[in-house]
Amino acid sequence: MFLRMEDRRVVIVGGGEQAAQKCRLLLKTEAQIDIVSHTLDPELAGVVAKGRARHIDGPLRPSLLKDAALVFVATGCPGADAGSHALARDAGALVNVVDQPDLCEAITPSIVDRDPVVVAIGTEGTAPVLARQIKTRIEYLLEPSIGELAALAGRLRQAVAARVPPRDRRAFWRWVFADAPRQAAARNDLSASAELMKSAIEAGEAPGAAKTGRIALVGAGPGAADLLTLRAVQRLQEADVIFYDRLVDPRVLELARRDAERIYVGKAVGACAWPQDRIDAVVVAAAQRGQSVVRLKSGDPTIFGRADEEVAAARRAGVDIEIVPGITAATAAAAGAGRSLTRRGETDRVVLATGTSRDGDPAPSFRETLRPGTTLALYMATKAGARIRDELLAAGIPGDTEVEVVANASKDGEQRVRGDLSDFCDRMKDARISHPAVILIRRKKTCASVESIAPRQLAVSAASL
Ligand code: SAH
Repeated sequence: MFLRMEDRRVVIVGGGEQAAQKCRLLLKTEAQIDIVSHTLDPELAGVVAKGRARHIDGPLRPSLLKDAALVFVATGCPGADAGSHALARDAGALVNVVDQPDLCEAITPSIVDRDPVVVAIGTEGTAPVLARQIKTRIEYLLEPSIGELAALAGRLRQAVAARVPPRDRRAFWRWVFADAPRQAAARNDLSASAELMKSAIEAGEAPGAAKTGRIALVGAGPGAADLLTLRAVQRLQEADVIFYDRLVDPRVLELARRDAERIYVGKAVGACAWPQDRIDAVVVAAAQRGQSVVRLKSGDPTIFGRADEEVAAARRAGVDIEIVPGITAATAAAAGAGRSLTRRGETDRVVLATGTSRDGDPAPSFRETLRPGTTLALYMATKAGARIRDELLAAGIPGDTEVEVVANASKDGEQRVRGDLSDFCDRMKDARISHPAVILIRRKKTCASVESIAPRQLAVSAASL
C-alpha cells in the first residue's frame, strides 16, 4: 500500500542514526515530520535547522500522536521502544518499530525509486539481504529516466483522453512505454519522447507498426553478466534480434527478452564462417526491416572489436547506430589479479595491444612500446607468447620484468599465473592456460637517480632503455 503523504504528519521517536534512516525516507515525501527526542544527531539537527522537520524535545505524549499518519519508533533502547509502541497503538496510529518486526503494523520495504515510479520489495522482515538483491536486479531493469517518462505521461494524460479514442488508448500507452518514446527517454532524450508523443496525440493515434530500426553496438564485458552496464541491459531488453560473438557469455544473453531472436555470428577457431562484410550486411538488413538490433561484442566494442567497420556499414545504409561501452578484458584481468594497471611511481602508462596481426601484415613488435613505466596489456597474444618473449629479451628488456597472465577473467574458469618475462611461457604451459587470456607485462620506471647507481648498473639500465 502506498500512502499519500501530502499534509500528513509523521512522528519519528528517537534522535540517532536509526531515526535518521527513517527521516531520509520521509524526506522524499511531502510529509510533515516531527522528531520526538531529547537529543538529535547532527544529520537530524541539520534537517530541523533547514525547517524540513520539527524537533520536539521531551518524551512521547499521546497528544503528539493525534492525527499522526505513521509513527516510527527508533530510540535504540528496546524498553523505550516498547513503551512508545504501546502509546502509538493506543492512539490508533500505524507504527513501525525499527528492527522489531513483531511490533510493526507498517513495514518499510526496500524501494527502487524512480519517482513517481516506485517499486517496493518486502519480505516481511524475513530476508532483508534478499530484498536488497532483488532491488539490485530491478535497478538494472528500470532505466534512470523511466520516472521522468512516467511524469511526462502524467502531464499528457488529459490531452490523450481528449484526442485519442478510448479503444485506441491502451495501444497508445503501450507504444509510449515499449516503443520509440521509451527508447528516446532511455537515451536521456526526453524532449524527443515528448515530441513523439505530442505528434501522436495530434494525430489521435500511436504510429502504426512500421518501426524504424536501429543498431546498438553493445559491449558485453569480459563475461560475468553483472559486469554489464545498465545501458547494455536496457538495449538487450529492447532488442528484437541479437547478433553475438564467440566470447559472449551465455549468461549475458539470458538478460535479453525471451522472444528476442539470437544469432551467432562468431568465428569458429581458425575458421571463417562469418566474414566481417557478411556480418555487417545481415546486421544492417535486420535494422532496415525495422528491428531493434543489438550487436553484442565481448569486452568493449571499440577495443579490437572492428566497431568502425560496423558503424561505417550502418551509416552507409542510413541506419542509426550507437555504441554502448563495456568493460574491456584488460581491466577485468587487472581486477581478477587484484591489482591496478598503473601504480604511482612505477607505471604511468597503459598500452593495450594485440599480439596477432592481419594475415600478410608483419607480426606486431613491442620493444618500442615497453619503455620503463609501462604496463602492456596484450590481447590475442597467448599463441605468440614465445615470439614476444624472445623479441623483448633480445631488445634488452630485463628477464625479471613482471608478467601476469589472466585467462577467462571474471568467468567461472578464471585462471591466473604470475611470473617474469623469461619464464611466463613455461608457466602458461604448466598451468594449461586456456583462451581467452590477457598478458600483462609491467615494466617499472627506473627509479634510482643517476648519481646513486654504480657505473655497471648504469650501463645495464641504459642498455635496457
Ligand atoms: N573487445 C574485447 C576484445 C576482443 S579481442 C575487449 O574489449 O575485451 C579478444 C581477446 O580479448 C582475447 O583473445 C583475449 O585476449 C581478450 N579477452 C576477452 N575476454 C577475456 C576474458 N574474459 N579474460 C581474458 N581475456 C579476455
